[in-house]
Amino acid sequence: MRPLESEKLSKEVVLQSTLCSLLIVLLCVFLISILLQMQRQRQEEEVKKLNEQLKDAADKDALTGIYNRRYLNQYLGDLILDEKEEFDAVLIDLDFFKHVNDTYGHGFGDIILVEFARLLTKHVKNKGIAVRFGGEEFMLVLKGMNTDEIGKMLEHIRREYKEFTKHEKNIECSFSSGVQHYTEGIAVTVLYRLADEKLYVAKERGRNQDVFDLE
Ligand code: GH3
Ligand code: MG
Ligand code: MG
Repeated sequence: MRPLESEKLSKEVVLQSTLCSLLIVLLCVFLISILLQMQRQRQEEEVKKLNEQLKDAADKDALTGIYNRRYLNQYLGDLILDEKEEFDAVLIDLDFFKHVNDTYGHGFGDIILVEFARLLTKHVKNKGIAVRFGGEEFMLVLKGMNTDEIGKMLEHIRREYKEFTKHEKNIECSFSSGVQHYTEGIAVTVLYRLADEKLYVAKERGRNQDVFDLE
C-alpha cells in the first residue's frame, strides 16, 4: 500500500472507532437514565404506599380496621359544614361484654369486636361510615335514611351478631343503641351526648334494643 492510502485508511479507522465509542457512550447514558427513571418511579410508588399506610394508621382502629374516633370527628365536621346532608348518629354498645371477656377470655373478646366491626361495615355500605368509638362502643353515621330503615338495619346486624356468637360459643350476645338525628346547629359533642343519653335508656330498659325517642 502507498503511504497516502494507508494514511487515509487509518484516518477512517480512527473516525469509525470514535463514532463507535460515541455510540456506546450514548447508549450507556440512555440506559443509565432509564434505570434512574425506573428507580425514581419505584421510590415514588413506595412513598405513596407509605403515605397511604400512615393515613390508614391515623384514621383506622388498629384492632378492627374500621374508622377511629379521630376520623369520625373530622368526618362529622365536614358533614355538618355541608348543610344539605341529613344524617343520624347511632351509638352502639355491646351488652355484658365484660362478662364475655371474663368467661371466654380477652382473645375471644377481640374476635367478637373484629367480627362486629365487619358486620357494621357490611351493612352500612355506602350509606355512611362505621366507627370504633372506643372499647366495645361503636358509632354509625348514616346519611339520608329514615327511622324505619335504620331500625331494620340494626335488627339485621343484631340477628347476625347473635348468630355469630351462637355459632362460636353457643351464647346469644346482644347490643344496645341510641339513635340521634342531627339537627342543624348542634355541636358534635352535643350530638354524642344526646346519642349517649338514649343508649343509657336502652340499657336501663333491659338492653338488646335501640332507642330512637326518649318519650
Ligand atoms: P353493659 O351491658 O352495661 O355495657 O356491660 P359491659 O360489660 O359491656 O360494660 P363494661 O363497661 O362493664 O365493660 C366493658 C368491657 O369491654 C370491659 C373491657 O375490658 C372490655 N373491652 C374494652 N376494650 C376491649 C378490647 O379491645 N378487647 C377486649 N377483648 N375487651 C375490651
Ligand atoms: Mg361501654
Ligand atoms: Mg357494654
